[in-house]
Amino acid sequence: MSKKKRFGISVPVELAEELDRLSKCLNCDRSKIIVSALKPYIHAHSHYMKPHICKGVLIAFSTGEKSRINNLIDRYRDIIQGYIHSHIDNNCIEVFIIKGLSEEIKKLDSELRKEGKEVRYIPIMDKT
Ligand SMILES: [Zn+2]
Ligand SMILES: [Zn+2]
Repeated sequence: MSKKKRFGISVPVELAEELDRLSKCLNCDRSKIIVSALKPYIHAHSHYMKPHICKGVLIAFSTGEKSRINNLIDRYRDIIQGYIHSHIDNNCIEVFIIKGLSEEIKKLDSELRKEGKEVRYIPIMDKT
């Protein structure tokens, strides 16, 4: 087990209550919940800063069919391990299962944004 550091943080009351409820419901202490919430957050925000092999799920939403991205999928075939394309009402939802160099993921991310899609990347963390 790694060394721990204790410090006080201030959060809105509602969020603290939410955390208490979640803690009871999951039967998991609050520190553990905060650590597991924080890790992917820090990863998601720092992972474009230093190059590394990353795996995760990239989700792209758009309204209507804005563009054909088949050639994009082709160009990024090295990092796209799986692809799901589905529609709900007028929304186009694409899910990319990704493993590859973070710089490539960043490029794919920005190309999808250029197509007018809303993009979210969720890195998958290995248990440590
Ligand atoms: Zn990463
Ligand atoms: Zn579509």
